[in-house]
Amino acid sequence: MTSETAVNLDEHPLTKWNGPLGLPDFSRIGDGDFAEVFEAALKAHEAEIDTIAGNAEPATIENTMEALELCGDALDRVSSIFWCRAGAHTNDAIQALERDIAPKMARHYSAISMNAKLFARIDALYTQREKLGLDAETLRVLEKTWKNFVRAGAKLDPEGKNRLGAINEELASLGARFGQNVLHDEKEWVLFLEEGDLDGLPAFLRDAMAQAAEARGRKGLYAVTLSRSIYEPFTSYSARRDLREQAWKAFIRRGENGGETDNGAVVAKTLALRAEKAKLLGYDSFAALKLDDTMAKTAKNVYGLLDPVWTKARKKAAGDQAELQRLAAAAGSNEIIAGWDWRYYQEKLRAEKFAFDEAELKPYLQLERIIDACFDVAGKLFGLSFVEEKGIKAWHDDVRVFKIKRKDGSELGLFQADYFARSSKRSGAWMSALQSGYKLGKGSSPIIYNIMNFAKAPAGEPALLSLDEAKTLFHEFGHALHGMLTDVTWPSVAGTSVSRDFVELPSQLYEHWLTVPEVLEKHALHYKTGKPMPKELLDKMLAAKTFGSGFATVEFTSSALVDMAYHARPDAPDEPLAFEAETLKQLEMPDAIAMRHRTPHFQHVFAGEGYSAGYYSYMWSEVLDADAFAAFEETGDSFNPALAEKLRKHIYAAGGSRDPEDLYRAFRGKMPTAEAMMVKRGLV
Ligand SMILES: [Zn+2]
Repeated sequence: MTSETAVNLDEHPLTKWNGPLGLPDFSRIGDGDFAEVFEAALKAHEAEIDTIAGNAEPATIENTMEALELCGDALDRVSSIFWCRAGAHTNDAIQALERDIAPKMARHYSAISMNAKLFARIDALYTQREKLGLDAETLRVLEKTWKNFVRAGAKLDPEGKNRLGAINEELASLGARFGQNVLHDEKEWVLFLEEGDLDGLPAFLRDAMAQAAEARGRKGLYAVTLSRSIYEPFTSYSARRDLREQAWKAFIRRGENGGETDNGAVVAKTLALRAEKAKLLGYDSFAALKLDDTMAKTAKNVYGLLDPVWTKARKKAAGDQAELQRLAAAAGSNEIIAGWDWRYYQEKLRAEKFAFDEAELKPYLQLERIIDACFDVAGKLFGLSFVEEKGIKAWHDDVRVFKIKRKDGSELGLFQADYFARSSKRSGAWMSALQSGYKLGKGSSPIIYNIMNFAKAPAGEPALLSLDEAKTLFHEFGHALHGMLTDVTWPSVAGTSVSRDFVELPSQLYEHWLTVPEVLEKHALHYKTGKPMPKELLDKMLAAKTFGSGFATVEFTSSALVDMAYHARPDAPDEPLAFEAETLKQLEMPDAIAMRHRTPHFQHVFAGEGYSAGYYSYMWSEVLDADAFAAFEETGDSFNPALAEKLRKHIYAAGGSRDPEDLYRAFRGKMPTAEAMMVKRGLV
């Protein structure tokens, strides 16, 4: 008698995608489906791994590497939908499941990495790799796979393997818990204001706050929330110092409010386990372990970038602070500039210096037109076009679906975009893939998505963006292009599967095209008059480009330095928040500037391992992107076709198929220095 499993993975809508355009059919997916499908998919993957590991034939690239890369399809599918929901549209049921699934997945992948029979096959191939006549990409995939197994504990004794497995599981739970705690505090805090409390606030912000209040059932009031789209402009424009202070304090205390959702203990435990894990694997510190497969390679190289920038940024910020103090005095305030004053007086200083208020740009930055601008630039550089397909159900009704077409009209894949903030969505902006693009086996075409957190406009009005938000849209779309344009054979090196300090190059580089004059002339049109941004405003905006860079660089670099301080030591601090304070004191952090991400809500570093000992990566990539865009400027043509083709081939299409340094050299002919980045930031 055979027993039947409850779930048929060949037919379930989570694993067999037969919705329109080959997307999952979201109308047939319920929150209650995930648990049992995960269960079945994990089992199926285990069975596939056992078959590969137990093969009686000697290891070959086909029966081991190919088989390994192509197995686990059902698990990949249910996972990609689940993590999309967990970030972009969660609820209590999904959150409970996330806390359960995260450690299970960690245990599962840990067991694969520590499967001795499987590793023996990979090791056999690795040992004879020079004699196998492999092409460069396959050789690199083999070497990376071998190294990943070793770094994941394949060479440990059974006791070490057990301990590492337990550590990974616990870290996964802690990461999930950390993110949920931050979301809780962001959802929980709201300040309802009345008409009389809105001194200084521009119309767009009043509208967004009215919307946010209405969404919370308080129509007629105005809500200050901790969404960056509201928090940042509120603290930039509100003339009410008391209210700015309340919002600022709530923002920097996310994850540090005591009780069940406080992240203090989560962070302490996380750091202790990371230090133990590094030691177990034979590394001096967790940073050494994490940096081993990056471009930077060592903590010393990371500090080599951050330290000189820190000195320059602090000096720049100190100069700015004196000017802000002068403005405050002129406005009749004898208060010392505090954290909640900086953005406010910085806006006033901007207006004085450049006769320019960032809010003036907003009527010209309509979300719809900036989306068009993103598409248009991709057309000019890479020959892509985007066709919207209406009425296709996704994880939420706000999600839009676009077909991606190549120059010759053939279909490349799909792009989904989810632009607006809601309380079921994690803060921030990101790109991910439901399905990645590669050629191995039957091949697979990319299904890429972008998530944003823009404030919705009142009914009938277009959503308007700040300059920063428009940049974020370009940034995430740059990541999306990295996923779309990928042209590799092996799934494990497709798209954004590159080293962490290289992955921000395609995204940050793309931001540069937003402020290319011909792009703004065409797409920055006033939402009422349809007229392009006046030349004068455009010039002022470009002149003010590096304004405030002292503040922004201090915010960023302090976060990157604290991240390194936590992880570049052999052990873990007992009291992370005291350690954060001590580190900042030693760095001589300006009192009136807070870290961009304080420890209790530093999701890059603690909601999973992603950017731990890796927040510096943004700046590392910025060294590359500043230099890469300079390459276009040097030709006098921001869309230089020959250079654009090199960019496509060596950066956007190559994924992780080659060493990042080789890729950059192939595009640019040389490696950059930090100079162009510091010039771009106005620090020299
Ligand atoms: Zn990014």
